[in-house]
Amino acid sequence: MKIDIMTLFPEMCEAVLETSIIGRARKNDKVSISCVNIRDFANNKHKSVDDAPFGGGMGMVMAAEPIDLCFKSLYGEDEEKPYLIYMSPKGKTFTQSKAIELSKKEHIVFLCGHYEGIDERVIEKIVDEEISIGDYVLTGGEMPALVCTDAVCRMLPGVLSDDLCFTEESHFSSLLEYPQYTRPAVWEDRAVPSVLLSGNHAEIAKWRREKALETTAQRRPDMLKKAELTNKEKEKYSDYL
Ligand code: SAM
Repeated sequence: MKIDIMTLFPEMCEAVLETSIIGRARKNDKVSISCVNIRDFANNKHKSVDDAPFGGGMGMVMAAEPIDLCFKSLYGEDEEKPYLIYMSPKGKTFTQSKAIELSKKEHIVFLCGHYEGIDERVIEKIVDEEISIGDYVLTGGEMPALVCTDAVCRMLPGVLSDDLCFTEESHFSSLLEYPQYTRPAVWEDRAVPSVLLSGNHAEIAKWRREKALETTAQRRPDMLKKAELTNKEKEKYSDYL
C-alpha cells in the first residue's frame, strides 16, 4: 500500500512516522509513506499558500491552487486517481471499520488543513471523503492524518507479528478487549487471575471472551448490538440488545 500525506509541516509527520512499529514497517517495505509539502507547489515569490477569507472574518484560508497541483504530482497521467481524504472536523467520525476499509485500498492520500481550513472549491474538485477524528477542533490535520495512518498501517500484512494482534483487539469485532496482565504474577498483593496461569488454552479463551463481553456491557453497551454473539450470550446480555 502507498500513503501520501499532503501537509505544510512534513517534518512534524516524519518525526512520528519514522518511529516504532510504523517506522519499522516502512524500512521493511511493508508500506510506502511519503510526506509532501504543499508549499513546494505555491507559484509565487514568497511561497505563500494561504490568504484572507472572502467575506471577512478571522484567520487565513489555504488556497486551492497549490493543493490541486500538489495532488496532481502524486500520480501519473495513466494511473488511477488515488483515494483522497481531507482530515476535517466536519467529516464523518473515524472508526475501526473505516480503518479496515481503507487498509484494502492501494493508494490513499491524506490532506491536512491548517489555519481556518481549505478553499471549498478544491475540496469539491478532488476530495473523495472527509474524515474527523472526533468532535473537537485541532490546529491542523497532521495529527488526525497520523492517527488514521497508524490505524490503517498496523492492519497491513507483515506490519504486526500476527493478524491476531489486531483481530482480537478492542473494536475489531464490536467488542472491547479483555484485561491484559504480564509478570510478576503477584504485584503489590494483586494476583493475576489464576486461569491465566493454568496453561489451559480453552479455559483461557473462555475467560477472555467472558471478560470482553462484561467490559463491553459495562463501558460501551451500544457496541453489543453489533457484536456476533452465541445464543447463550444473547440470552445473558439480552438487556443490552
Ligand atoms: N474552521 C474549521 C472549522 O470550524 O470546521 C476548523 C479548521 S482547523 C483549526 C484547521 C485544520 O485542522 C482543518 O482544516 C483540519 O484539517 C484539521 N482538523 C482540526 N480538527 C480536526 C478533527 N477533529 N479531525 C480532523 N481534522 C481536524
